[in-house]
Amino acid sequence: MKQQWLIRYSEIFLKSDPVRRQWENTLIANILEVMQGVHVRNERGRIWLDGDVKPDRLKTIFGIVSFSEVEHIKLDEIETALPDYCRRHGIDKAKTFAIRMKRVGKHEFTSNDKAIEYGTLLRSEFPHLKVNLATPDKEIHIEIRADEVYLYDSVIKGVGGLPLGVEGTLVALVSGGIDSPVAAWMMMKRGCRILPVFVALDSFLDETTIARAERVVETLARYQPGIRLTVINDAYLAAAKKELLSKHLEKYTCIFCKRRMYRVATAFAHASGAKGIVTGESLGQVASQTLDNLVVLTDAASDMPIHRPLIGFDKEETIRIAREIGTFPESISPASGCKAVPSGPSTRAKLETIHEIEEDLEATKMPLPV
Ligand code: ATP
Ligand code: MG
Repeated sequence: MKQQWLIRYSEIFLKSDPVRRQWENTLIANILEVMQGVHVRNERGRIWLDGDVKPDRLKTIFGIVSFSEVEHIKLDEIETALPDYCRRHGIDKAKTFAIRMKRVGKHEFTSNDKAIEYGTLLRSEFPHLKVNLATPDKEIHIEIRADEVYLYDSVIKGVGGLPLGVEGTLVALVSGGIDSPVAAWMMMKRGCRILPVFVALDSFLDETTIARAERVVETLARYQPGIRLTVINDAYLAAAKKELLSKHLEKYTCIFCKRRMYRVATAFAHASGAKGIVTGESLGQVASQTLDNLVVLTDAASDMPIHRPLIGFDKEETIRIAREIGTFPESISPASGCKAVPSGPSTRAKLETIHEIEEDLEATKMPLPV
């Protein structure tokens, strides 16, 4: 008898052979990064692990759909090994059970023959048990592959998605609020390694906000080991705000702040070889996040693709994910808000108006801090 973990992954199957191999190798490397000393075997579309496996860590590795702790025996051992396995796995506590058979390879019997045979065997060993195929207390999975047999009693759900890194790198604008860490996580789940960036435009956001963003990013390290927040300081906002005030255009402060933030992120993305930017905006959530504004505020300031995975989410949906992935408690921890927000900020500006103002804004000429 040999104890192992069976790792199941999906979507990778849909790929051509070279891509599939590359993605499998990335998944294996990601597993080994967090579980050194584990022995890995990749066989016919499944990954097997043995050694010091940490099941809780498997739950945070993208690309893993589900996993099971499995006992490996030979087909001719099953009559003694199966009751023994069931005894060690709490069959006494169950009143009802079901056998879930799977069979691969050429055999002289059908799956159904074997399900009946093993069901009868278990009922004679454990007379209190009844069969219930719909809602059993205990499921016993038996997989027969040629003359190898795999026994397991639970299928633990993984996080799914694609192996981290297979799609390349994205810069994530992370404020530390509820939305942006969830947005970054969603792109991680689709295979993007994330470079989280906090833009500190002068002293309008203080240390408490930066510290909160750092703590939030640390909670994402379970999903992307070693992830670290880059804080980029930029003196632009103080200069721009002063100019806008003197021109009685202070209502546009937030628009110019956002455009600058996107420019900083874009420069950082180019410098770090990232393929785009991810933000936590969702349509209509705050007044500045209308379909028109998203273009005026942001897209028109960047030549990089901007990804907004939360665009169609209700706040409740985002909060549900934030709780699930563990960023929520830090995201709602106290931090002081932005002190540069004017009273009555403009949320409806035409791109031409913004371009005209920006052309005369001396602060626009300040070099980007990246
Ligand atoms: P969040 O919950 O992510 O803070 P929000 O709903 O509060 O978002 P905004 O404040 O309008 O919305 O910010 C929109 C997006 O801009 C954020 O989701 C984030 O991606 C980015 N962002 C805002 N402030 C910063 C910052 N100081 N540094 C980096 N990114 C930021
Ligand atoms: Mg915010």
